[in-house]
Amino acid sequence: MLYSSQLIKAKAQTLGFTACGIAPVASAESEAQYFDQWIAEGCHAGMKYMENYRAIRLNPSGLVEGAKSVISVALNYYPKASLPAEAPHIAYYAYGKDYHVVVKELLSKLYQQIIDSSTAQSLPEADRPTARFFTDSAPILERYWAWRAGLGWIGKNTNLIIPGKGSFFFLGEIVTTFEVDEYDSPQRNRCGKCTRCLDACPTGALERPKRLNANKCLSYLTIENRGEIPSEQASCLGNRLYGCNTCQEVCPWNRFAQPTTIEAFHPSPALLALRKEDLTDFSREDYNRIFAGSAVKRAKYEGLLRNINNLKE
Ligand code: SF4
Ligand code: SF4
Repeated sequence: MLYSSQLIKAKAQTLGFTACGIAPVASAESEAQYFDQWIAEGCHAGMKYMENYRAIRLNPSGLVEGAKSVISVALNYYPKASLPAEAPHIAYYAYGKDYHVVVKELLSKLYQQIIDSSTAQSLPEADRPTARFFTDSAPILERYWAWRAGLGWIGKNTNLIIPGKGSFFFLGEIVTTFEVDEYDSPQRNRCGKCTRCLDACPTGALERPKRLNANKCLSYLTIENRGEIPSEQASCLGNRLYGCNTCQEVCPWNRFAQPTTIEAFHPSPALLALRKEDLTDFSREDYNRIFAGSAVKRAKYEGLLRNINNLKE
C-alpha cells in the first residue's frame, strides 16, 4: 500500500510545520568520506558520541527495521521578540520550551494522523507499518535527509536553508516502513558566491564552506562543552551567554524569517527580562526559575556559570 505524499504534507502543514518532504531510505554513502574525515580530524571536539553508530548514521534502516521512507519536517523557531543587544545573548532556538519535547510530540501526532487516515488502522498489528520519530536525538544525518527530502540545501554555514524562509528551523524525521506515492527530489545549493557566514564567524570555526570545527565554535563551547572555554575563543564571546546565532543572522536568506506561531517557542517574560546584572551571584534557583523547561538546561547550571564568568564586562 502506498501512502499519499500530498496528504502527509497537508497534515504536516496543519500541525504547524513550515516544510515537509519525503525521501526513500537509502545509504548516505556520499556523506561517508566527509563524515569520516571530520571525525578523524577531531572536528567533533568533545562530542565523542559522534564516533558511535557510524553504519546507522549512514543508513537509517539501522534505526527502523525494514524502513522505506524518511519524512523530514521543519518547525520554525524564529522568535517574535528578542532580547535587546545589551542583554546576555541566548541563541534563538533556546528561547522557548525544549524543542526535543515539542517537535517529538508533533511528529507523533503527525504519524498518528497519517495512520488514522489510512486503512492501516484496520490491519492486524503485525501488518501495520512501524515508525520512529527523531529530532536531534538519534544517529541520523538530519540536514542530509532534509536536503534529500527536498526541503532546501545545506548552506556554507552547515545549516539547512529553506528558500524564501531561511534557516531558523528545527528539523525532525519520521523513519517509517511505509512507502509513499511520490518522493521528493533534492534542491540545488543556492549560496552562490556569498561567503557572509564564513566572513562573520568570530572564531574562524567555519574553516571552509560546510566545514565546521566544533573546537572553535562558540555554540559548541558554550553548550555541549563540559570543560573550560579556551582563552582564544573566550576572548571572542562578547555577550554570548548560550550559543551563537552569528552565521545564521548574517545569512541573506534569513531576511525572509517570520516569527514562529508555535506558542511553546515564544520566550517567557522571565527570559525577555534577563539582563547582565541579573547574572551576578546567579544561583541554582535563578537558573531553575528563568530556564524552566528550556533547552538552555543542556548546558547545565555549571556550564552556564562558566559562560557567565567568561562574559565581557
Ligand atoms: S555558531 Fe558562531 S562560532 Fe559557531 S560557526 Fe557559527 S558564527 Fe562561528
Ligand atoms: S551566509 Fe551566504 S554562504 Fe553562508 S549559508 Fe547563507 S547564503 Fe550560504
